[in-house]
Amino acid sequence: MANKYQVPRGTQDFLGETVSLWQKVETIIREECARYGYSEIRTPIFEHTEVFKTENDSSDMVTKEMYTFNMGDSSLTLRPEGTKGVIRSFVEHKMYGNPAELPQKLYYMGPMFRHERPQKGRYRQFHQFGIEAIGAKSPLLDVEAIALGYDISKKLGLKNIKILVNSLGDEESRNNYRNALREYFKPYLDELCEDCHRRYEQNPLRILDCKIDKDKECFKNAPSIKDYLNESSKEYFALVLKGLDDLGIPYEIDDHLVRGLDYYSNTVFEAVPVDATGQQAAVFAGGQYDGLVNYFGGGDLPGVGFGMGLERMINLAVEQNSLQAETRHSDVYVISLGNVSTYGLQITQMLRDAGYSVEMDYQGRSLKAQFKTSDRLNSKVIIIVGEDECGNKTAQVKDVANKTQETVEFARLSETVGNILKGNE
Ligand code: ATP
Ligand code: MG
Repeated sequence: MANKYQVPRGTQDFLGETVSLWQKVETIIREECARYGYSEIRTPIFEHTEVFKTENDSSDMVTKEMYTFNMGDSSLTLRPEGTKGVIRSFVEHKMYGNPAELPQKLYYMGPMFRHERPQKGRYRQFHQFGIEAIGAKSPLLDVEAIALGYDISKKLGLKNIKILVNSLGDEESRNNYRNALREYFKPYLDELCEDCHRRYEQNPLRILDCKIDKDKECFKNAPSIKDYLNESSKEYFALVLKGLDDLGIPYEIDDHLVRGLDYYSNTVFEAVPVDATGQQAAVFAGGQYDGLVNYFGGGDLPGVGFGMGLERMINLAVEQNSLQAETRHSDVYVISLGNVSTYGLQITQMLRDAGYSVEMDYQGRSLKAQFKTSDRLNSKVIIIVGEDECGNKTAQVKDVANKTQETVEFARLSETVGNILKGNE
């Protein structure tokens, strides 16, 4: 039986230096979003189940992987993805009200929950950063979304990321394609998995996204969406590709890319490492969607966005050595010797107020032990106070790099520390 005092399967504790990696990545993401004019939106971690379980959504995520629970009369679900909560909020707060403010460009970052089989790059609680540009349809917005995701991967130092892109066309094109797929797969139904039988009935596009069947022989000759796009869908897609060319973003057209969620239309994309093998490859993925805003009651407005898996991005950056953890450090370490009461703490607080990071000893440990800690924290300045210093309100200040030490009055401590740190830069 699982030890109840360990994290649940598929979840992780992030500790110490690993957290510093996450903070770095989060900072890069926030800075990039500000440059691209995306503002943060924070929606609840759980919603009414109906927000995610929208009609016609036959994705595995919705049908099999959601953490749903009852509380009183409500059925609630931990969010498995970001888009639907954001659209719910967009409509609830009537963000569509002023056409001059469209598109609304929003981003979110936080944990998502899916009951999947845990493996490398696949967790039950994982973290996504994602964007949504809602309320305007333009190939330029699709290109900008891809560019933002790609830029973030570059800022993290990731090498060899390519974008797979496809068009699912408009409603008419998709209907024609669905019919063609049904026709094509009919004789192969016996070879397909149980889920694909359901997909065949509900949404045959989905069959192409099957992780079990996708390498089967019959998939290779399946009809391609590109033969079913009508003229306006073709034109739209051509403009997206031109935008990617003009911005120098490396991409490949993958005409079997349909993406996991049911509400996509026109442009869909997925970013993967060039040499990716295995199924946990996509680092970010998304596309344009129609109908979702309308579903929540906000009128006929399209959107485009993507979700980025932060665990996958960070794992890749660490593997590629492009992201290093920060070790804990402190500018100043305050050593107290003998009976100095709270004098050491007073100095510590005064220097923290002045803007320095300062650590001290709390347990009256030996001089040697305290020096060892200051070394571990890589402190550039060590302040030593004993009973004499406490009595005449001074301190010994040691410049670690220069190996010099002087007696300094309390009132001049901050200035002295500042000078030493500046000299060390
Ligand atoms: P996959 O094909 O890997 O199952 P998906 O199509 O289910 O991905 P999306 O719903 O589009 O993924 O989510 C966007 C991104 O979130 C993915 O590209 C991936 O980086 C990340 N992601 C999705 N599910 C998980 C998970 N269980 N654990 C970690 N990251 C995930
Ligand atoms: Mg999935």
